[in-house]
Amino acid sequence: MRVWSAGREKLLRFCPRAYFYNYHLASAGYDHNADTKQKLLYRLKHLLPIQLWQRSLFRRTLREMFYKTPAEFSGKTFQQRLQRNLLGEYNSLVREDWRQHAKCVNLYETYYGKMSHAEAFTLVENVLNLNANHLVASELFQQLCNTSPLDRVEILDFFHFNLNTLVVWCTLDLGWRRRDSVNLVAITNEDSGEYSLVNAALHKIFAQYNLAISPDKTVSHGWAMANGETFIVPDRKINISKTIDHLRESAIPLCQDSAPDIKQEHEFRGNPENCDKCRFLEYCETSAPR
Ligand code: SF4
Repeated sequence: MRVWSAGREKLLRFCPRAYFYNYHLASAGYDHNADTKQKLLYRLKHLLPIQLWQRSLFRRTLREMFYKTPAEFSGKTFQQRLQRNLLGEYNSLVREDWRQHAKCVNLYETYYGKMSHAEAFTLVENVLNLNANHLVASELFQQLCNTSPLDRVEILDFFHFNLNTLVVWCTLDLGWRRRDSVNLVAITNEDSGEYSLVNAALHKIFAQYNLAISPDKTVSHGWAMANGETFIVPDRKINISKTIDHLRESAIPLCQDSAPDIKQEHEFRGNPENCDKCRFLEYCETSAPR
Protein backbone atom coordinates (compact mmCIF):
# COMPACT_ATOMS: atom_id res chain seq x y z
CA MET A 1 0.00 0.00 0.00
CA ARG A 2 1.29 3.45 -0.85
CA VAL A 3 0.24 6.32 1.38
CA TRP A 4 -0.16 9.92 0.25
CA SER A 5 -0.58 13.04 2.36
CA ALA A 6 0.36 16.65 1.68
CA GLY A 7 2.89 16.43 4.55
CA ARG A 8 4.58 13.35 3.03
CA GLU A 9 4.85 14.96 -0.39
CA LYS A 10 6.30 18.14 1.09
CA LEU A 11 8.82 16.35 3.31
CA LEU A 12 10.06 14.16 0.45
CA ARG A 13 10.71 17.32 -1.58
CA PHE A 14 12.47 18.88 1.43
CA CYS A 15 14.83 15.92 1.89
CA PRO A 16 14.34 12.20 1.07
CA ARG A 17 16.39 11.21 4.10
CA ALA A 18 14.27 13.34 6.44
CA TYR A 19 11.24 11.62 4.90
CA PHE A 20 12.71 8.21 5.68
CA TYR A 21 13.50 9.19 9.27
CA ASN A 22 10.08 10.65 9.87
CA TYR A 23 7.87 8.01 8.29
CA HIS A 24 9.91 4.86 8.81
CA LEU A 25 12.83 4.93 11.19
CA ALA A 26 11.47 7.15 13.98
CA SER A 27 8.51 5.00 14.96
CA ALA A 28 10.78 2.44 16.72
CA GLY A 29 11.65 5.14 19.28
CA TYR A 30 8.13 4.99 20.72
CA ASP A 31 8.98 1.70 22.41
CA HIS A 32 9.98 1.99 26.07
CA ASN A 33 12.90 -0.37 25.42
CA ALA A 34 14.19 1.49 22.37
CA ASP A 35 17.85 2.50 22.42
CA THR A 36 19.02 6.11 22.94
CA LYS A 37 19.38 6.86 19.21
CA GLN A 38 15.93 5.58 18.40
CA LYS A 39 14.46 7.65 21.23
CA LEU A 40 16.30 10.73 19.99
CA LEU A 41 14.89 10.25 16.51
CA TYR A 42 11.36 9.87 17.91
CA ARG A 43 11.79 13.09 19.89
CA LEU A 44 13.04 14.99 16.81
CA LYS A 45 10.11 13.70 14.76
CA HIS A 46 7.79 15.55 17.15
CA LEU A 47 9.60 18.91 17.05
CA LEU A 48 7.16 21.60 15.94
CA PRO A 49 8.23 24.64 13.91
CA ILE A 50 6.73 27.74 15.51
CA GLN A 51 4.30 28.37 12.63
CA LEU A 52 2.81 24.92 13.05
CA TRP A 53 2.48 25.49 16.80
CA GLN A 54 0.47 28.64 16.10
CA ARG A 55 -1.76 26.78 13.69
CA SER A 56 -2.22 23.87 16.06
CA LEU A 57 -3.25 26.16 18.97
CA PHE A 58 -5.66 28.06 16.77
CA ARG A 59 -7.18 24.92 15.31
CA ARG A 60 -7.50 23.15 18.66
CA THR A 61 -9.21 26.15 20.28
CA LEU A 62 -11.62 26.68 17.41
CA ARG A 63 -12.55 23.00 17.28
CA GLU A 64 -13.01 22.79 21.08
CA MET A 65 -15.44 25.69 21.02
CA PHE A 66 -17.26 24.74 17.85
CA TYR A 67 -17.83 21.08 18.72
CA LYS A 68 -17.58 20.74 22.51
CA THR A 69 -18.88 23.98 24.00
CA PRO A 70 -21.01 25.60 21.28
CA ALA A 71 -23.18 27.43 23.84
CA GLU A 72 -20.14 29.45 24.98
CA PHE A 73 -18.93 30.26 21.46
CA SER A 74 -18.35 34.02 21.06
CA GLY A 75 -15.48 36.27 20.05
CA LYS A 76 -14.59 37.02 23.67
CA THR A 77 -14.64 33.42 24.90
CA PHE A 78 -12.67 32.29 21.84
CA GLN A 79 -9.91 34.80 22.57
CA GLN A 80 -9.85 33.88 26.27
CA ARG A 81 -9.68 30.16 25.53
CA LEU A 82 -6.91 30.71 22.98
CA GLN A 83 -4.85 32.58 25.59
CA ARG A 84 -5.49 29.83 28.15
CA ASN A 85 -4.42 27.08 25.74
CA LEU A 86 -1.31 29.04 24.78
CA LEU A 87 -0.32 29.46 28.44
CA GLY A 88 -0.97 25.78 29.19
CA GLU A 89 1.26 24.60 26.34
CA TYR A 90 3.87 27.25 27.05
CA ASN A 91 4.19 26.07 30.66
CA SER A 92 4.56 22.51 29.40
CA LEU A 93 7.29 23.68 27.01
CA VAL A 94 9.20 25.49 29.78
CA ARG A 95 8.87 22.46 32.12
CA GLU A 96 10.24 20.36 29.24
CA ASP A 97 7.49 17.78 29.59
CA TRP A 98 8.64 16.50 26.20
CA ARG A 99 11.56 14.79 27.93
CA GLN A 100 9.06 12.33 29.44
CA HIS A 101 6.42 12.41 26.71
CA ALA A 102 7.71 13.10 23.21
CA LYS A 103 4.29 14.25 22.02
CA CYS A 104 4.20 17.19 24.47
CA VAL A 105 4.94 20.48 22.75
CA ASN A 106 8.61 20.97 21.85
CA LEU A 107 9.58 23.76 19.50
CA TYR A 108 12.15 23.36 16.75
CA GLU A 109 13.31 26.98 17.28
CA THR A 110 13.91 26.68 21.04
CA TYR A 111 15.34 23.14 20.86
CA TYR A 112 18.03 24.25 18.39
CA GLY A 113 18.70 27.53 20.22
CA LYS A 114 17.33 29.82 17.49
CA MET A 115 15.18 31.70 20.04
CA SER A 116 14.47 31.65 23.76
CA HIS A 117 11.23 30.37 25.32
CA ALA A 118 10.22 33.92 26.19
CA GLU A 119 10.86 35.15 22.63
CA ALA A 120 8.82 32.29 21.22
CA PHE A 121 5.96 33.07 23.60
CA THR A 122 5.87 36.77 22.71
CA LEU A 123 5.96 36.04 18.99
CA VAL A 124 3.20 33.45 19.14
CA GLU A 125 1.03 35.51 21.48
CA ASN A 126 1.21 38.51 19.12
CA VAL A 127 0.43 36.46 16.02
CA LEU A 128 -2.46 34.64 17.71
CA ASN A 129 -3.99 37.89 18.99
CA LEU A 130 -3.80 39.41 15.54
CA ASN A 131 -5.26 36.29 13.92
CA ALA A 132 -8.03 36.03 16.50
CA ASN A 133 -9.01 39.68 15.92
CA HIS A 134 -9.17 39.09 12.16
CA LEU A 135 -11.17 35.90 12.51
CA VAL A 136 -13.66 37.28 15.04
CA ALA A 137 -14.38 40.23 12.71
CA SER A 138 -15.01 37.93 9.72
CA GLU A 139 -18.24 36.71 8.21
CA LEU A 140 -16.98 33.15 8.57
CA PHE A 141 -16.85 33.54 12.36
CA GLN A 142 -20.44 34.81 12.44
CA GLN A 143 -21.50 31.77 10.43
CA LEU A 144 -19.71 29.48 12.88
CA CYS A 145 -21.35 31.13 15.91
CA ASN A 146 -24.80 30.99 14.32
CA THR A 147 -24.64 27.35 13.28
CA SER A 148 -26.93 25.09 15.29
CA PRO A 149 -25.09 22.27 17.11
CA LEU A 150 -27.23 19.79 15.16
CA ASP A 151 -25.85 21.07 11.85
CA ARG A 152 -22.20 20.71 12.85
CA VAL A 153 -20.40 17.94 10.98
CA GLU A 154 -18.03 16.05 13.25
CA ILE A 155 -14.62 15.81 11.60
CA LEU A 156 -11.83 13.62 12.92
CA ASP A 157 -8.36 15.08 13.36
CA PHE A 158 -7.30 13.13 10.28
CA PHE A 159 -9.33 11.16 7.79
CA HIS A 160 -8.40 8.89 4.94
CA PHE A 161 -9.87 7.18 1.92
CA ASN A 162 -8.58 4.61 -0.57
CA LEU A 163 -7.99 5.07 -4.28
CA ASN A 164 -7.44 1.44 -5.26
CA THR A 165 -4.04 0.65 -3.69
CA LEU A 166 -3.35 4.23 -2.61
CA VAL A 167 -4.35 5.46 0.85
CA VAL A 168 -4.91 9.22 0.95
CA TRP A 169 -4.67 11.04 4.32
CA CYS A 170 -6.03 14.57 4.70
CA THR A 171 -6.78 17.11 7.38
CA LEU A 172 -9.88 19.26 7.67
CA ASP A 173 -10.83 21.49 10.54
CA LEU A 174 -14.54 22.32 10.70
CA GLY A 175 -17.73 21.50 8.87
CA TRP A 176 -21.43 22.31 8.96
CA ARG A 177 -24.49 21.54 6.89
CA ARG A 178 -26.82 24.12 5.44
CA ARG A 179 -29.94 22.66 3.83
CA ASP A 180 -28.63 20.16 1.20
CA SER A 181 -25.07 21.47 1.11
CA VAL A 182 -22.01 21.24 3.35
CA ASN A 183 -19.39 23.87 4.23
CA LEU A 184 -15.88 22.69 5.07
CA VAL A 185 -13.11 24.85 6.52
CA ALA A 186 -9.34 24.36 6.51
CA ILE A 187 -7.04 26.55 8.59
CA THR A 188 -3.87 27.06 6.60
CA ASN A 189 -0.44 28.61 7.03
CA GLU A 190 -0.45 29.62 3.37
CA ASP A 191 -2.14 32.79 2.24
CA SER A 192 -5.32 32.67 0.18
CA GLY A 193 -3.47 32.98 -3.15
CA GLU A 194 -1.21 30.05 -2.40
CA TYR A 195 -3.85 27.80 -0.92
CA SER A 196 -3.57 24.38 -2.50
CA LEU A 197 -6.29 23.46 -4.97
CA VAL A 198 -5.47 19.85 -4.12
CA ASN A 199 -6.81 20.51 -0.60
CA ALA A 200 -9.98 22.08 -1.95
CA ALA A 201 -10.56 19.07 -4.21
CA LEU A 202 -9.94 16.75 -1.23
CA HIS A 203 -12.74 18.57 0.63
CA LYS A 204 -15.12 17.57 -2.13
CA ILE A 205 -13.89 13.97 -2.18
CA PHE A 206 -14.26 13.83 1.63
CA ALA A 207 -17.86 15.05 1.40
CA GLN A 208 -18.69 12.52 -1.27
CA TYR A 209 -17.11 9.55 0.54
CA ASN A 210 -18.13 10.39 4.10
CA LEU A 211 -21.29 12.47 3.88
CA ALA A 212 -22.74 11.34 0.53
CA ILE A 213 -22.86 14.97 -0.62
CA SER A 214 -22.04 15.67 -4.25
CA PRO A 215 -19.09 17.95 -5.18
CA ASP A 216 -21.36 20.73 -6.46
CA LYS A 217 -22.97 20.95 -2.99
CA THR A 218 -19.67 21.24 -1.12
CA VAL A 219 -18.25 24.68 -0.33
CA SER A 220 -14.53 24.79 0.44
CA HIS A 221 -13.53 27.60 2.83
CA GLY A 222 -10.06 28.57 3.91
CA TRP A 223 -8.79 30.64 6.80
CA ALA A 224 -5.29 31.88 5.99
CA MET A 225 -3.21 32.46 9.12
CA ALA A 226 -0.52 34.23 7.08
CA ASN A 227 -2.70 37.27 6.38
CA GLY A 228 -5.85 36.72 8.42
CA GLU A 229 -8.07 36.32 5.35
CA THR A 230 -11.05 34.05 5.03
CA PHE A 231 -11.82 32.91 1.51
CA ILE A 232 -13.90 30.47 -0.53
CA VAL A 233 -12.22 28.44 -3.27
CA PRO A 234 -14.35 28.85 -6.44
CA ASP A 235 -15.63 25.62 -7.99
CA ARG A 236 -14.30 26.59 -11.42
CA LYS A 237 -10.75 26.28 -10.07
CA ILE A 238 -11.22 22.80 -8.56
CA ASN A 239 -10.60 19.77 -10.76
CA ILE A 240 -11.20 16.46 -8.97
CA SER A 241 -9.96 14.09 -11.69
CA LYS A 242 -6.78 16.15 -12.15
CA THR A 243 -6.26 16.02 -8.39
CA ILE A 244 -6.60 12.23 -8.34
CA ASP A 245 -4.02 11.98 -11.17
CA HIS A 246 -1.72 14.25 -9.14
CA LEU A 247 -2.10 12.08 -6.02
CA ARG A 248 -1.34 8.88 -7.96
CA GLU A 249 1.68 10.39 -9.65
CA SER A 250 3.17 12.07 -6.60
CA ALA A 251 2.69 8.93 -4.50
CA ILE A 252 4.99 6.89 -6.78
CA PRO A 253 8.27 8.03 -5.15
CA LEU A 254 6.76 7.68 -1.65
CA CYS A 255 7.75 4.39 -0.05
CA GLN A 256 5.38 1.52 0.29
CA ASP A 257 4.83 1.20 4.02
CA SER A 258 4.95 -2.56 4.07
CA ALA A 259 7.89 -3.14 1.70
CA PRO A 260 10.76 -4.82 3.57
CA ASP A 261 13.49 -3.62 1.19
CA ILE A 262 13.06 0.10 1.82
CA LYS A 263 14.41 0.13 5.33
CA GLN A 264 17.94 1.02 4.27
CA GLU A 265 19.09 4.46 5.31
CA HIS A 266 21.67 4.83 2.51
CA GLU A 267 18.94 4.53 -0.15
CA PHE A 268 17.62 7.94 0.84
CA ARG A 269 19.85 10.79 -0.21
CA GLY A 270 20.23 13.81 2.04
CA ASN A 271 19.68 17.39 0.96
CA PRO A 272 22.49 19.50 2.45
CA GLU A 273 20.77 22.71 1.33
CA ASN A 274 18.05 22.19 3.91
CA CYS A 275 20.08 20.86 6.86
CA ASP A 276 19.96 24.22 8.59
CA LYS A 277 16.13 24.08 8.68
CA CYS A 278 15.82 20.38 9.44
CA ARG A 279 14.54 18.96 12.71
CA PHE A 280 16.66 15.80 12.25
CA LEU A 281 19.94 17.75 12.25
CA GLU A 282 21.00 16.36 15.64
CA TYR A 283 20.58 12.79 14.45
CA CYS A 284 21.59 12.88 10.80
CA GLU A 285 25.14 11.72 10.15
CA THR A 286 25.17 12.97 6.58
CA SER A 287 24.08 16.51 7.34
CA ALA A 288 26.17 19.40 6.06
CA PRO A 289 29.01 20.39 8.44
CA ARG A 290 27.75 22.72 11.16
S1 SF4 B 1 20.02 17.04 8.30
FE1 SF4 B 1 20.09 17.52 6.09
S2 SF4 B 1 20.57 15.59 5.05
FE2 SF4 B 1 19.93 15.11 7.16
S3 SF4 B 1 17.79 14.65 7.01
FE3 SF4 B 1 17.96 16.82 7.48
S4 SF4 B 1 17.97 17.94 5.52
FE4 SF4 B 1 18.34 15.77 5.13
